[in-house]
Amino acid sequence: MSRPSQLELVNWCKGESIDLKHALLLYGVPEGVSRDEIEETAGTIKALGKVVVKGKIDEYFCYKCGENGHIATRCTAPENPQKVIRKLI
Ligand SMILES: [Zn+2]
Repeated sequence: MSRPSQLELVNWCKGESIDLKHALLLYGVPEGVSRDEIEETAGTIKALGKVVVKGKIDEYFCYKCGENGHIATRCTAPENPQKVIRKLI
């Protein structure tokens, strides 16, 4: 996927109830890398302290059409409330 925008990070943090001041976006992480492996790698950067992977932004989905990988403000697809509700419950 392309580089996520700052807006996507901000919205994602809101959705996950994470303080943006304590959030760091890692992108370009290859598919199939586990959270443990990401935490272990990021943890080698001592300045970061303890690193906890809270989720992947490509698991994030659009609240308008229900598709993964983009957010509603960037959505060009038609609204699909049924799909959004299925993902929320
Ligand atoms: Zn969409």
